[in-house]
Formats: sequence, structure tokens, C-alpha cells
Amino acid sequence: MKISEARLKLRNLIDEEAKLITIFMERKRLLRGGVYQAFSKCGKANCVCVREGKLHIAWRFYWTEGGKTLNRVLSKSEIVYYQRLTRNYQRFRKARARLVKIHKEMIELINILEQGMTKESVKGYVKRG
Ligand SMILES: [Zn+2]
Repeated sequence: MKISEARLKLRNLIDEEAKLITIFMERKRLLRGGVYQAFSKCGKANCVCVREGKLHIAWRFYWTEGGKTLNRVLSKSEIVYYQRLTRNYQRFRKARARLVKIHKEMIELINILEQGMTKESVKGYVKRG
């Protein structure tokens, strides 16, 4: 990779990093977990779920605790709120993962810059002195 290409890539990563930082700085609540729809049978003998196979839909919130994944049913009034907070959390985590990757790429680019910028051997400078 040419030095000019490495500089350009580094510049682009710095710009992307700045965007990610704004995500970490947002004053949003984060809820570790997720929301999903679960379909189930209630078990009542003459319910439509048993008679016609029309399953009940429930929104559930899941989270992990001590290595276990737990979940609970959300009430209608909770669904949107939990969706928003878990989405905030997932966005934050995604940004964090991307930042880790970007920093790794940055170091690689900086190494390329260093190699390119120190091409001339130290010997050349020692002789001059
Ligand atoms: Zn039922």
C-alpha cells in the first residue's frame, strides 16, 4: 500500500470514528437484552389455539443473567419502550464492536505509514552526522 493511500484510509477511519463517538456520548438509556415475538398455545382445551391452530402472540423481553438467558412477557404498554431501549443498547454495542475494529485497522495503517516514512536506513543519517 502506498503512503498516500494509507493516509487517505486513516483519514476515513478517523471520520468514521468521530461518528461512532457521538453514539457513545448520547444520553440515551440502554437496556441489555432484546425484544421478540413468541407464538404459543395456552393449553385451554377449547381455545382457538388448540381448535384452529391460531397461536397466541406475545411480545417478550429477553436478557442474560449469570450466563442464563431469561425472558418475560411484556404488557402492551411496555412493548415500544422496551423495543426502544434494547435497540439503543444494540446500536451502542454494534458501534463499540466497530470501534474496536477501526482501532485495529488504524494501528495497521500507522505501521504502514511508519514503514514508508522510515524507508531511508538509519545508516544514511549516521554518515551525514
Ligand atoms: Zn389459547
